[in-house]
Amino acid sequence: MSEASSSSAAAPPPAPAPALDPEAIALMADEAPPEEMTLVLKWSGKEYTVRAMGDDTLLELKRRISELTDVLPKRQRLLYPKIMLNDDSVLLSSIPFKRNLKITMIGTVEEEIYVDQPDDPEVVDDHELFKSEVTAIKDNEVYKKKLKRRASQYKFKLLNPCREGKRLLVLDIDYTLFDHKSPAENPMELMRPYLHEFLTRAYAEYDIMIWSATSMKWVQLKMEQLGVLSNPNYKITALMDHLAMITVQSDKYYANKIFDCKPLGIIWAKFPEFYNEKNTIMFDDLRRNFVMNPQNGLVIRPFNKASKNRSRDKELVHLTQYLLAIAELEDFSKLDHDAWESFMENAKRRRHR
Ligand SMILES: [Mg+2]
Repeated sequence: MSEASSSSAAAPPPAPAPALDPEAIALMADEAPPEEMTLVLKWSGKEYTVRAMGDDTLLELKRRISELTDVLPKRQRLLYPKIMLNDDSVLLSSIPFKRNLKITMIGTVEEEIYVDQPDDPEVVDDHELFKSEVTAIKDNEVYKKKLKRRASQYKFKLLNPCREGKRLLVLDIDYTLFDHKSPAENPMELMRPYLHEFLTRAYAEYDIMIWSATSMKWVQLKMEQLGVLSNPNYKITALMDHLAMITVQSDKYYANKIFDCKPLGIIWAKFPEFYNEKNTIMFDDLRRNFVMNPQNGLVIRPFNKASKNRSRDKELVHLTQYLLAIAELEDFSKLDHDAWESFMENAKRRRHR
């Protein structure tokens, strides 16, 4: 009689204590979130409690402060006894904050909502940066972990349900849908031509999310003013703001500077049953925003100088055709979106053959 059958009638033996697996322990330690910190900020006669993580950069702290105070990160000057807080790339865990000391902020709320874009870092060629450094940045374990944690914390502004079987189109606002620098009496004058037609046609095949490097209040206000949230012909699935972005560091082209990017992994982690790297495409005029997911980004020509360019800008018309053409494909990740125009040319030729 085998040992197994002899013991089968008796009560099951107590489960053995799990063996300590050093690898699993190391993994857990690795995945434990860095320390959460609570800081007190004094500004304009009031005190604010700001929560941040040890591996947030100073810039990310400034974004959290901006959520509480409406003072944009670039307008904030932070003062702390005996410490200079002027390097945005520094990690909070490396700053010796003391329990009983407060951060003082000097800064004013932006009056004009159309000048909120952070100033571009000194980059000579966005394209060059990308080719040489993208792999190092996107495969960096530190950023991957940061992305994962951001994904679990970030609150999307969901406006409409995800639709089964649709692809996902993620759109930047400034210079993509809207000229945010030109003066105008009415925001409609700065809207990219054919915007509503583009969104209407894209909506047939794509769920649409809007993601801008500013606060949610402004993302929403801009979209409302352009009529994007009330158009009867399409629905926006979600809005995303600067808190969904992560900062990464570039060694070469940005000369050790940090910059923000828009990691689509945040969306894929939140809605895994709908969206993934095979069915998502993002339009942005800044290539660096794609650094964590270069295969999914399409660099759109910036729409600026609206009064001059309004009559001739057809970018959204042509991109509508591209979106609809690729919507038939199983997998976007094999496409080279840089070559979207030749893709359309070739498609035209195939049709005429
Ligand atoms: Mg932009």
